[in-house]
Amino acid sequence: MKNRIPIAITIAIALLQTISCSRGAHIAETQPAASLLIQNVIVIDGTGSPGSSGDVRIRNQRIEAVGQLTAEAGDAVVDGNGMVLAPGFIDSHSHADDDILQHSNARAAVSQGITTVVVGQDGFSPYPLADFYAAFGKTPGTINIASYAGHNTLRDEVMGKDFKRHATAEELARMQQLLRQELASGAIGLSSGLEYDSGIYSDHAEVLALAQVAADAGTRYISHMRCDGCELETIDEIINIGRVTGAPVQISHIKFAMKSMWGQAPQLLAKLDTARKEGIDISADIYPYEYWQSNMMVLLPNRDYNDREAVAYALDPQFLPEGLRFTKFDPQPEYVGKTLTEIAAARKVDDVTAFMQLAAESVAMKQSTGAGADAIIATSMIEDDIRQLLSWPETNVCTDGGLIDLHPRSHGSFTKILGRYVRDEGLLNLEQAVHKMTGLTARHLGFSDRGVIREGAVADLVLFDPATVGDRATPDAPDLLSTGILSVWVAGQKVYDNGVVTDARPGQVIKENL
Ligand SMILES: [Zn+2]
Repeated sequence: MKNRIPIAITIAIALLQTISCSRGAHIAETQPAASLLIQNVIVIDGTGSPGSSGDVRIRNQRIEAVGQLTAEAGDAVVDGNGMVLAPGFIDSHSHADDDILQHSNARAAVSQGITTVVVGQDGFSPYPLADFYAAFGKTPGTINIASYAGHNTLRDEVMGKDFKRHATAEELARMQQLLRQELASGAIGLSSGLEYDSGIYSDHAEVLALAQVAADAGTRYISHMRCDGCELETIDEIINIGRVTGAPVQISHIKFAMKSMWGQAPQLLAKLDTARKEGIDISADIYPYEYWQSNMMVLLPNRDYNDREAVAYALDPQFLPEGLRFTKFDPQPEYVGKTLTEIAAARKVDDVTAFMQLAAESVAMKQSTGAGADAIIATSMIEDDIRQLLSWPETNVCTDGGLIDLHPRSHGSFTKILGRYVRDEGLLNLEQAVHKMTGLTARHLGFSDRGVIREGAVADLVLFDPATVGDRATPDAPDLLSTGILSVWVAGQKVYDNGVVTDARPGQVIKENL
């Protein structure tokens, strides 16, 4: 809808005009800034405390008062009709940096109540960050942005195409220097993607030395680990980084993505609890789906798609080939939406051969265009593991999605948890779930004035109906809007209203310690 003026602002303007009619055209500037009173809501404040009914007043982008409030002159009033008002959700692992500058409405995020996304994930970040922040400042989005500095990005800058080896001491020193530059620009820490090029070729000492720079700057380290969801031992690396550097560390999108690992959540969580007892500040984020999205090569640690045995191993113990679906395949775009098994049948070859052929075609195209040519969704997790990992007290919610994305997590992660795991299955209560989307996440990220409803906090808020909130996105229709998300405000401006993204673009860059 074009030129939509949020109703609250319309009311505020009307009130100002009523009050000011005798004082001429300049009166609006001399009045105190308009305030917004959201009345008659259940406030779930993000701390995990029980919700309570009341009202919230917003002024100058922040929450001014919380409690039993009455309308004052100058208040625009919104009747919350007894719905839940929560802090805007924070997505701790987002790929919105791929498309936020082109899609400032960030519909996938705001439509599920997200008001802040954290990008620069899996070792890849916009470089230099200062340029990205400047561009976002020129064309801000509906949502706020924070970013990590990516290890793979730093490696690319320093090592270029000669990356299939350990870094030299000089190269490491240069990466540290670039990391300091990115932290000075406002990066909130270091991210690694140790299953991807070129981080996969780094050793522990390199990652540790870089994480130490992040720690020395008072920031943190997060990691898409070397073997994402496949070995308990893979966690030792991030635990050691937390131990040695003293920085908070977070496991990205915690999961078990191999059949042989299913059911081991208790062992994994025991290991994490032991680390926390030792004083290591380790946490995790998670998205609530049994399938992940990445590229074909992530399945082959040796990157050799001609190695039939490695391909067969990648396909069998990890997931069922009929659960591997292409969401991008530039050499033959008609394969998008098809499974590996369907493509193999069309080519009259077995699944392993089909994978080898498709990988060769994708790599050849990447070599000619320089851009990744494939993406896959693979079903390889199980519900019982997700429920246990989500329930761990130090797990916060994320999407791991972009804004334009073929995985339904981009549109549905947060609302799926509120609908399915809270209302339908009772795995978490509403306050716990909101905490995992707001206050807990803010603590993991070092945000001091977001993720909570209290006086003085930034007025990032979501109003939703706990009886109807839920996800609708599926792999076949990944951009279906969630239900039950009624209104979303960022810094006090309404950005989403009953299925419609407004024209407001109040998104801010959130920088470390600022
Ligand atoms: Zn990842």
